[in-house]
Amino acid sequence: MRLGGNTLGGSNPLVSAPERSLPTGDLVQTFSIAIVGAGPSGYFAAQALQNLQSDDLRFAIDIYERLPTPWGLVRSGVAPDHPKIKSVSKVFENIAAKPNVRLLANVNVGSDISLGEISAHYDAVVVAIGTPEGRSLGIPGEQLPNVISSADFVYWYNGHPEFADVAVDLTGTRAIVIGAGNVAMDVGRMLAIDPDDLDATDTADHALKALHQSRIRDVTIVARRGAESASFTSPELRELPGLESTNVQIERTDIAIALERAGAEPEKHVKNNLDAMMAIAESPTRNVERTLRFLFEHKPVEIKGQDRVSSIIFDTPSGTIEVPCDLLITAIGYRPNDLPGLVIEGSRYANNEGLVLGNIFVVGWAKRGPSGVIGTNKSDSTEVIHRLVESLGVPKNKADMLPLLKERGVKVIEQSGWMKINESELSQGVLQGRPRVKVTDVDEMLEIAQSNQ
Ligand code: NAP
Repeated sequence: MRLGGNTLGGSNPLVSAPERSLPTGDLVQTFSIAIVGAGPSGYFAAQALQNLQSDDLRFAIDIYERLPTPWGLVRSGVAPDHPKIKSVSKVFENIAAKPNVRLLANVNVGSDISLGEISAHYDAVVVAIGTPEGRSLGIPGEQLPNVISSADFVYWYNGHPEFADVAVDLTGTRAIVIGAGNVAMDVGRMLAIDPDDLDATDTADHALKALHQSRIRDVTIVARRGAESASFTSPELRELPGLESTNVQIERTDIAIALERAGAEPEKHVKNNLDAMMAIAESPTRNVERTLRFLFEHKPVEIKGQDRVSSIIFDTPSGTIEVPCDLLITAIGYRPNDLPGLVIEGSRYANNEGLVLGNIFVVGWAKRGPSGVIGTNKSDSTEVIHRLVESLGVPKNKADMLPLLKERGVKVIEQSGWMKINESELSQGVLQGRPRVKVTDVDEMLEIAQSNQ
């Protein structure tokens, strides 16, 4: 299929979702596309398909989602104290509101329906399932209680239904976060700020309660390399001096050494980061009880403890040191999980510029590994969708998968059901002066989705 031309012909009245009002005239070709995963890269893939539609080319898009709720990391990943980043959900809802998109949420691709089945029944499949597993350090002691991956901890405070019960013990005073990326920064900030500052956010109720009771007062973010190699981005660093109830501490000498190592012409993002870190190092100390500090050039080698973590041993340029801690969060990147039909290659699924095999494509973190901000997924998904559309032949004749899923006893939540959950959360939020109050129990979500409200 060549894009942008008027070269399509033939009679192809296929529409996989009969209730959708798509043109079915003789000259219209309608291809059915399944997107697996309703996160940013999935929605941006749907948007790219919508943008490529013309008078004679149409797409009927089914977005499969494992959870009863869409939006992926915009709902379950973005830190609750960064509400502006979540406003991109309005874009997702505009995409979802178009008549050629159908949400099939609460459907587990892999167990409710296989990727192979989906591939056989659609003209093309776009896998947009991210990289949900936390990478592990691979050092002794990592299995100790209160050593928690950011993958679990972030889902816990964001109300992901499968992580509401993560055992987070906040009875100690010292937390260490391993990693020098924006996830480590989010986690460190969530632990170090005054929980009153989270009262007006959509932090999950169970986490908000636990953070209010938390005795953690000293949070340290630990990088294994120097400050010049940190993966933080400068806007995140620049907001730290504004935390009124937390002393943010960086050793001036760490940044001076890093500036020297970065040389006369450091890359722009390195310079911006080091400038922001120097500003923190030079800002006056506040007389408050909470501290968020940064350590550089500390490589974790062993975690110690009996009933729970009690310390961590680091290799540093001046030798080995043991640092006490009561909670240890590892925020060192993510990896994909197993999905039959896909091969894991490092931190992503094996693919050639988005093509996996046959009519299966992959986008987002699942394609390129866990890097980039939400907007990065827009250009990435658009490129892959162009490739996908170029690869299309003539539409297949296939069945609608919704009746099959229902026959299998899958309680599919469509857009209308999700809208009820959304409305319910938003209206609870209005009552409490918060953006929303998240429902974190799947049965409760199903009940709301099926209600007549
Ligand atoms: P990341 O940016 O890749 O950072 C991972 C960090 O873990 C790096 O500092 C890395 O250090 C460190 N690390 C890896 N293995 C380690 C080990 N064995 N021991 C110690 N440290 C280790 O990943 P991320 O923080 O998970 O973020 C993922 C993506 O999401 C990033 O692109 C990030 O910018 C984005 N994000 C953005 C925002 C936002 O815009 N506000 C918020 C959250 C996430 P080395 O460099 O030495 O390998």
